[in-house]
Amino acid sequence: MNVQVSMIFLFGLIFGSFLNVCIYRLPKKQSIVWPGSHCPSCKNSIPFWQNIPVLSYIFLAGKCANCKFRISPIYPLVEILTGILLVVVWQHYGLTLSFLHYSILVLFLLPISFIDLDTRLILNVLTFPGIIVGLLSSVFLNQIPILNVVSGLFLGGGFLWCVGLLGNSVFKQESMGGGDIKLGAMIGVFLGPKVLIALFLAFFLALPVIAIGLSTKRLKIGSTVPFGPFISLAAVIIVCYGQALLHQYLNFVGSL
Ligand SMILES: [Zn+2]
Repeated sequence: MNVQVSMIFLFGLIFGSFLNVCIYRLPKKQSIVWPGSHCPSCKNSIPFWQNIPVLSYIFLAGKCANCKFRISPIYPLVEILTGILLVVVWQHYGLTLSFLHYSILVLFLLPISFIDLDTRLILNVLTFPGIIVGLLSSVFLNQIPILNVVSGLFLGGGFLWCVGLLGNSVFKQESMGGGDIKLGAMIGVFLGPKVLIALFLAFFLALPVIAIGLSTKRLKIGSTVPFGPFISLAAVIIVCYGQALLHQYLNFVGSL
């Protein structure tokens, strides 16, 4: 396998390991730097050789070495997913500043999505820094004109805000959380005006899942669905396949 791919995947695993700490601790308002890694059950601190991404999970058979508490498979999953996503972004941008820019976006989207799945919350402690970092990264790394960055911010946040207002009047209850709106704004800062395509795509991705949920009665009218993972997935698709999709679309329209 290509050396670059392996290195990027390895970096992904290491970053993923840190994202796990964020996913586990941020919703509990705990520090992500102190104390070091410890078992959530027996509080025993985890030495570094038991804290190697993925490998330790396999060697310890998914259990704490001290108390045999079962470690969630979400941990290695997040690590592998981070590795894969960084490799996918690299395939599209190579080792460029744009690769760095979109990798930063991925590293924000992963903890936001997993925390949303787990707690139904999109935390300000991630979206606010995401907006600031995205602004700087867009201007200095990806070299997007500042006007595009600002319009992305308002289009992303504004679109979901409008959808929320519409939903409120149709369903007579809060339909779009403030967290989703801030996430839309954050992605807008990274993507510029293309954020609108990503948000449309997010609704298309969410619709079949909601339809299946309703038809199998696992969802009821009025129950909440975490929307963050759909917005995040759509953003990654647009980052990597946006050009190809646009091409397909134009070809399709041209053939009509
Ligand atoms: Zn333990």
